[in-house]
Amino acid sequence: MKFTRQTLNALPINDTVFAVARLAENDRISFPEETVNATIGSLCNEDGGLVAYQSVFSHYNSIDDQQKASYAKSFLGNLDFREQVYHWVLQNSSCKLAHSVIATPGGTGAVASCFHSFLDQNETIILPNIAWGSYQLMADIYQLKSVTYEMFEDDHFNLDSIYSVIQDVLKTQNKIVLVINDPCHNPTGYSLSLAEWSKLIDFLNEIAKDHLVIVINDIAYIDYSYNITHSRDYLEVFNKISNNILISICFSCSKTMTSYGLRCGANVLLAKNEEDIKQTTSAIEKFARATWSNIPNAAMINFVNMVTSYKDEFCIEKNKYIELLKLRSSTFLKEAKDCSLAFYPYKEGFFITLKIEDSTTIERYHKELIKHHIYTVQVKNGIRIAICSLPLSKIKGLAHKIKQIFDQIS
Ligand code: PLP
Repeated sequence: MKFTRQTLNALPINDTVFAVARLAENDRISFPEETVNATIGSLCNEDGGLVAYQSVFSHYNSIDDQQKASYAKSFLGNLDFREQVYHWVLQNSSCKLAHSVIATPGGTGAVASCFHSFLDQNETIILPNIAWGSYQLMADIYQLKSVTYEMFEDDHFNLDSIYSVIQDVLKTQNKIVLVINDPCHNPTGYSLSLAEWSKLIDFLNEIAKDHLVIVINDIAYIDYSYNITHSRDYLEVFNKISNNILISICFSCSKTMTSYGLRCGANVLLAKNEEDIKQTTSAIEKFARATWSNIPNAAMINFVNMVTSYKDEFCIEKNKYIELLKLRSSTFLKEAKDCSLAFYPYKEGFFITLKIEDSTTIERYHKELIKHHIYTVQVKNGIRIAICSLPLSKIKGLAHKIKQIFDQIS
């Protein structure tokens, strides 16, 4: 007998990141030079310290204490925050759809609000086969079944896999909920091309002739796109969605503003009909009220201040780190290619994933890397290298070292 609900999984959480990160930190005390900690999914500087943007936190510190202490103005979030998130997320792309924005505790809250609100128990959600682990956890918590589409066919996005998984799901339910983590996919660093997005929406429009379709577009890392001025171009494609499609764009201030602990993000809903947006917003508002209630007031104020008063300063600071990510990723990838270390197609962002299909091999390789003081994260079909937190000095030579270690035990 257990005290928790019968349907709740009370086994310890499968912590693939923090447990290994702790090992790395301990190892670093004895072997500071040799230890490579490629586990941490937050942006770190070249000294290995967490980046906390000056342009974010110096202004945060000057927010009035009463504002910090205060509740938010609404369960949906402060009105100015909701308006500014919409403009920030959409930026130059012209959106002709009805919309609404709900403030959430980070991107996690935005995604969770979708998992909770769009499907009934035992219905099936469609996830990428290589993915952020929390999607599966959320599906379990809300008692959803999940199926996965293959992310890749050769070096491009596998649209055919999405098509066939959707057809399968439609055999048992009338509604499709599809998760696309894009751009800068965690953990592979893939981003769909404009053509891939366009084909996907055309296909979903066909499906939506007879069914309801919801696309959860998790954009947690969008503000680290390597072509930042074109990072929102694909959003224009959403203008062609038909009446039966709803898009939820899940935005994270954690990544954009290096403010992981402030727990702020948003769910941006887009659809053709205002009525669908209103109804969905009301349902999610109740979920918000019943779970997190409201979002830290100062975190929302800080975002609004950034976009209205010190956006240039912020973008200059953030762009420096985009350039650093470019340098780190190109260094690793060049060496990986040179020594034929296989990786998934990477375009941009925080992570690169080594391609290893077999799960026992992944485990073996992962353990062996640890013996050589290299700490990484096991993911489905691969091993994740967090270049976001690895200084260049630790990246240089890393691919060769990894390849040698793999070869020795193959
Ligand atoms: N989506 C993806 C793919 C992520 O990797 C993360 C965080 O690691 C999130 C969403 C949510 O982050 P947060 O809740 O801190 O905004």
